[in-house]
Amino acid sequence: MAFSGWRILREGLTGNKGWGPLWRTPEPRKAYDALIIGGGGHGLSTAYYLAKNHGMTRIAVLERGYLGGGNVGRNTTIVRANYFLPGNQEFYSHSLKLWEGMEADLNFNAMHSQRGLINLFHSDGQRDAFARRGNAMINQGDDAILLDREGVRELLPYLDFDNHRFPVYGGLLHPRGGTARHDAVAWGYARGADRLGVDLIQNCEVTGFTIAGGKVTGVETTRGPIAAPMVAMVVAGRSGQLAAKAGMRLPIESHVLQAFVTEGLKPVIDHVVSFGMGHFYISQSDKGGLVFGGDIDFYSSYAQRGNLPMMEHVMEAGMSLMPMIGKAKVLRSWGGIMDMTPDGSPIIDKTPVEGLFVDAGWNYGGFKAVPASGWCLAHLMATGDSHPVAARFRLDRFREGVLLDEEGTGAQHNLH
Ligand SMILES: Cc1cc2nc3c(=O)[nH]c(=O)nc-3n(C[C@H](O)[C@H](O)[C@H](O)COP(=O)(O)OP(=O)(O)OC[C@H]3O[C@@H](n4cnc5c(N)ncnc54)[C@H](O)[C@@H]3O)c2cc1C
Repeated sequence: MAFSGWRILREGLTGNKGWGPLWRTPEPRKAYDALIIGGGGHGLSTAYYLAKNHGMTRIAVLERGYLGGGNVGRNTTIVRANYFLPGNQEFYSHSLKLWEGMEADLNFNAMHSQRGLINLFHSDGQRDAFARRGNAMINQGDDAILLDREGVRELLPYLDFDNHRFPVYGGLLHPRGGTARHDAVAWGYARGADRLGVDLIQNCEVTGFTIAGGKVTGVETTRGPIAAPMVAMVVAGRSGQLAAKAGMRLPIESHVLQAFVTEGLKPVIDHVVSFGMGHFYISQSDKGGLVFGGDIDFYSSYAQRGNLPMMEHVMEAGMSLMPMIGKAKVLRSWGGIMDMTPDGSPIIDKTPVEGLFVDAGWNYGGFKAVPASGWCLAHLMATGDSHPVAARFRLDRFREGVLLDEEGTGAQHNLH
């Protein structure tokens, strides 16, 4: 089933009876050439690019719940390529380019909207840091414009510019940054992978690994054993638990990150805006709700719901930056389990078990990475070599001390 304007018109005129399911519901086979554990954004994009770029179609995605029910459908949808450090820069730049062609490639509307991201700064020191970041982004081939206070006022007149504690000094505008509809990204990749022959198996939890002579030979699941010479763990917040079943201890802690959505409002926030003096970021969805979030909860947890102290912290940051937000009613909030690494950067690598791969450690920034993560993990699995733009996302960098500490906050998870 292909989507087009003509198809929508025809279905609209004939009672919308011709739409079919977006993907099949196959029974798991006994053996595959490769298994992807986790039907989130990263697992689904990996399966899609394994099939599309490398011609591997005897593959399955094993998902313990339903496709897109994890973080990929729980995030605040910000898509950007504004990283500073070599290693991160080229990866996120590659990802944004894939985003820009993704909907046409998948023939699926993911509502990708490049409305511009503005990171605010509130001191001279912060201005210098953002100017450096902007220059790094431009050198990488991406876009960045340093706005002064009046430049910000023109675009975001509703901010509290004269807040005595956090006056707005200016902002770094990244015009190609923006948002997308998060679960549509999962659905688009799922449909794309299914059309290329990938089996998407839902309600199938991986409970163990079969490993012989240091090589992976398959997995144990709630729907029986499945054999495969290649297995990828792509389970975000559950990475530590899953890797433990293969006898590994990953440098990852799981924390809750909350998101909040208000009642639908008339268009008021045209960009994605982030506060430089508190962890607070906001955009407005196409349905009109203000979508915002802040810090992770400061202790480890596998709960997919948050707690009141962090909620209060986020609301306070929002009120400091844009007091008008106090008039809006919050309708919904939820949490997702974040896979936090000590340096805040991800891992896409082989593991000490031959044939077993890991793609994890996305912290709270893995939505924008969905296309490039799948692209690079598929490359690694199919060729045996790291893709050049993901070459620094090594598992052993924590042992070797070659960290990618973008935020400069070291191993303090609560400071990321
Ligand atoms: C509130 C919030 C806001 C965020 N905001 C942003 C943002 O604005 N921008 C951004 O770039 N990123 C953001 N993120 C981060 C981003 O959502 C994640 O980094 C990314 O989605 C993680 O990758 P994933 O999509 O593959 O994870 P998930 O969707 O969580 O996929 C992992 C899947 O693995 C499955 N699984 C786990 N264990 C097993 C098992 N044993 N067997 C089978 N399946 C298993 C899970 O059920 C899940 O579906 C945010 C996250 C949250 C929670």
